[in-house]
Amino acid sequence: LYDFFVKIRDFGAVTRRLAKVARERAVTVEVAGSFDEHPFFVVRIEPKHATFSVFLSAGMHGEEPAGVEAVLQWLEKGEFKKFPHVRWLIFPCINPWGWERDWRLNARGLDLNRQFRGRRVPEVKLIKRILRGEKFDLGVEFHEDYEATGYYLYELSHRTRCIGEEIIASVRRVIKISRDPVIDGNRAERGLIRRPPHLSRLRRRKRWPMAFYVFTNHAEHILGSETPKEFPMKQRVAAHHAALKTALNLLARKAPRA
Ligand SMILES: [Zn+2]
Repeated sequence: LYDFFVKIRDFGAVTRRLAKVARERAVTVEVAGSFDEHPFFVVRIEPKHATFSVFLSAGMHGEEPAGVEAVLQWLEKGEFKKFPHVRWLIFPCINPWGWERDWRLNARGLDLNRQFRGRRVPEVKLIKRILRGEKFDLGVEFHEDYEATGYYLYELSHRTRCIGEEIIASVRRVIKISRDPVIDGNRAERGLIRRPPHLSRLRRRKRWPMAFYVFTNHAEHILGSETPKEFPMKQRVAAHHAALKTALNLLARKAPRA
């Protein structure tokens, strides 16, 4: 274990905030497992007449705190209530050990977002078990990038309808958008990385991020929201919220599943 890493955050604070949300809002908070003495939380919101389902996650990489903060505030402020027909499955923090230390990897030095092919990593096994049998209209991952010059977005869709441009347009009101032509080895256009879903090519990859796994097995449409870590926390949280709200306004309000 990497004992020399210094804790800079206390996951107890996240536990308390989730407990408060569970008490005050119609939200179910479960502990689905435990890794390195940290609970793995799953949040469920299941309205009776849901017509649209969303899988939301954050904290895959411990040094990306704005995603976790954005999920917590989304719940605390009751933002989800603006979309009463949405059913939610939420992982508020996939890697609490890393989150406490502002460290990308888990306690065993693994980037969890490269372990979704094969079944040896316990966190990934648990995630796959929770997702078994699930189908989502939309999967959203909150990430951050410490090298990024501005906000950017990954989009994968089985549908013909892509919404990346509209999301970028709304996020632009709260944070700078990346102008880099290549981001993390991917071609980007005004902050948008859109990889056509050639599943056969994705399948040949050895190290799958969660997005590929979810896109292949569980979701119609995937968004990876990436905030630039150098900007203030408040702005990064607002950027994630703007992306999620815009996606839901476009998909969940106007096009409920028949
Ligand atoms: Zn990340």
